[in-house]
Amino acid sequence: MSKHSAGPGTWAQRIRTRLQTDFQFAMIIAFGVLASVAILGFAIFRFLTGYWIGTLVNLGIMLLVLGVMSYAVLTGRSGRAGALFALVTALGVYSSALAMGQTALLWSYLVFWINFVLADRRWALVVNLALLIGLVANQHLFDSGTEVITYLITAVLSSAFGYIFAYRLAYQQEQLELMASRDPLTQAGNRRSMRRELVRALDDHARTGRAYTLMLLDLDHFKELNDTYGHDAGDQALRDFADLLATHIRTIDGLFRFGGEEFVVLFPDTGAEAAERLTRTLHEKTSGSLNGPGGLLHFSAGVAVLDGDEDMDAWIRRADRALYRAKKNGRGRLEISSRS
Ligand code: GH3
Ligand code: MG
Ligand code: MG
Repeated sequence: MSKHSAGPGTWAQRIRTRLQTDFQFAMIIAFGVLASVAILGFAIFRFLTGYWIGTLVNLGIMLLVLGVMSYAVLTGRSGRAGALFALVTALGVYSSALAMGQTALLWSYLVFWINFVLADRRWALVVNLALLIGLVANQHLFDSGTEVITYLITAVLSSAFGYIFAYRLAYQQEQLELMASRDPLTQAGNRRSMRRELVRALDDHARTGRAYTLMLLDLDHFKELNDTYGHDAGDQALRDFADLLATHIRTIDGLFRFGGEEFVVLFPDTGAEAAERLTRTLHEKTSGSLNGPGGLLHFSAGVAVLDGDEDMDAWIRRADRALYRAKKNGRGRLEISSRS
């Protein structure tokens, strides 16, 4: 699902954070540990009973599981580790079935299901299908035609349920992420997602030199509108205003509600010259073009092109100071911050 960079803190702290925030990683580790313990138990039992091939197959699978877990821990690539893990579980069941016969089929039910939790659901589907075909092709694993058909149906049902479960999980995760990052009134990004995007912009600027511009907008005399026409009318005006802004920015631009009647627009790929043009055009097109209950809604704005040396707060502060000047110089206008 997600890639994770090294991040701050000690090694153990980073693993703990990843276990909490990266669901796929947590599943790889949880299932990896449980499976390793179980398989080790079988390996010891087979060793004690003198069944060498079984012991070797078990130890081989266990080593592969440990390898995948190490890969996930060391590289931070949960997506790729999950895909590998699905292959290992399938290979484990297949080799066990060849070496130990019919009882290994019982493991396949667990694998058909768990692969959807470990890996991308389309990949899990492909791996499961290949495993199912591989197993059914080995006729000696089944005592009768009825048994083959029963196995096929129960295996397909088990996979289908795993697929539906993974689909629902991904959908709900998406909804949760949307809820956690959007302002419920205006559907613009909330302050949390704004901070995340600004951090990304700062990182990107430091790494690649890509230019970014931030525009801070504040509706003029909004309190008056609220006091005269009521809070609901104020809410509606905020919603309409956010919709209007959204239709006038580029798809790469970010729109966020900074708080109250203040919004932030983040313009990527926008240096000093483009900033002047883009923000002035946006202001001309949107300030005074929306009809509120008491007349046209105007706004003031402050603009700051990201300066390489500043942090997020300093960047916002410069836009805020420019906004303050716009208010002081008569409102309904836009001011661009000269470099700090
Ligand atoms: P200025 O031109 O100086 O910006 O004046 P203003 O009245 O817009 O500024 P001020 O910051 O004094 O008032 C902002 C008002 O926005 C205060 C509050 O009533 C209103 N407000 C903040 N959040 C909401 C909200 O979610 N819904 C509604 N309806 N009003 C809000
Ligand atoms: Mg305000
Ligand atoms: Mg205001």
